Amino acid sequence: MSARVLAGPPVAAALLADAAARASRLPAQPNLVIVSVGDDPASLSYVRGKSRKAGEVGLRNTVHALAETTTQAELLTLIDTLNRDDDVNGILVQLPLPAQIAEAAVLHAIDPRKDVDGFHPLNVGELWAGRPALTPCTPAGIMFLLEHHGVPVAGARAVIVGRSHLVGRPLAALLLNADATVTVAHSRTRDLGSVTREADILVAAAGTPGLITPDMVKPGATVIDVGINRVLKPDGKGHLVGDVHPDVAGVAGALTPVPGGVGPMTVAQLLANTVRAAELQHAARADL
Ligand code: NDP
Repeated sequence: MSARVLAGPPVAAALLADAAARASRLPAQPNLVIVSVGDDPASLSYVRGKSRKAGEVGLRNTVHALAETTTQAELLTLIDTLNRDDDVNGILVQLPLPAQIAEAAVLHAIDPRKDVDGFHPLNVGELWAGRPALTPCTPAGIMFLLEHHGVPVAGARAVIVGRSHLVGRPLAALLLNADATVTVAHSRTRDLGSVTREADILVAAAGTPGLITPDMVKPGATVIDVGINRVLKPDGKGHLVGDVHPDVAGVAGALTPVPGGVGPMTVAQLLANTVRAAELQHAARADL
């Protein structure tokens, strides 16, 4: 048996087409502002990718690439200006930030209505209360991927390996809101395999290459590999691999590839969130 491949790009394209159609019904194209601090090559490459994709689907976007030495006060001043600008619909601050800037202070400063990453405590609270508004992009993208591929979620046993604020926790809330029975495992979980073997839907978001081996997977389960790990292969070249061992394809019923699975969904969901933010802001103004 070989698992059905749950490819990301066609699903991301469907999500983007829907976002672009909704954007065209608004009085102005939604406007996303991306802020990066410092010169970490991976961060800058993510920012370029997000900006390029935004342009491809017709969203207005601006990148503020700030110097590594930027102070927290300077960054907060910029966020305040963007919060007050009615022409800015979405604000994304690329993480991680340099050590002199407290991440929480920055995430709390973004207007929750423009918080397209969904990290503001108000949006986190709404998500856990079952009233999601703007939700973190990777988990929301995973839910869209499951829905698009017709994977039943209601009543399913879902196990997430990883409890980060970026992936594991918000995904747990989304799966719970969609009526799955959810378990979140982490590095202190005892006998991880006995937990993961219960899963109809198994999500690996640990950042550990090959962590999930075939013996840890229930036959026929849907396995979502969120991990993006750069490893050196015997050919001496760097390769991207997930958290799921390739042999899992022989046990799982369906599996997302790395690369080309969850990754493309994340950027598409960011742009969908930008359109959603613009819609909510437009509706709020129309109500005044
Ligand atoms: P974090 O490092 O913030 O969190 C990792 C989580 O996995 C932690 O909760 C940790 O447990 C748990 N964990 C680590 N090792 C083990 C283990 N051996 N057994 C059980 N649990 C373990 O990572 P992120 O959530 O930010 O990212 C996870 C992975 O997903 C990374 O590879 C990242 O690159 C990738 N990623 C991919 C995205 C995409 O678009 N495809 C987007 C975001 C992330 P504990 O809390 O106890 O330390």
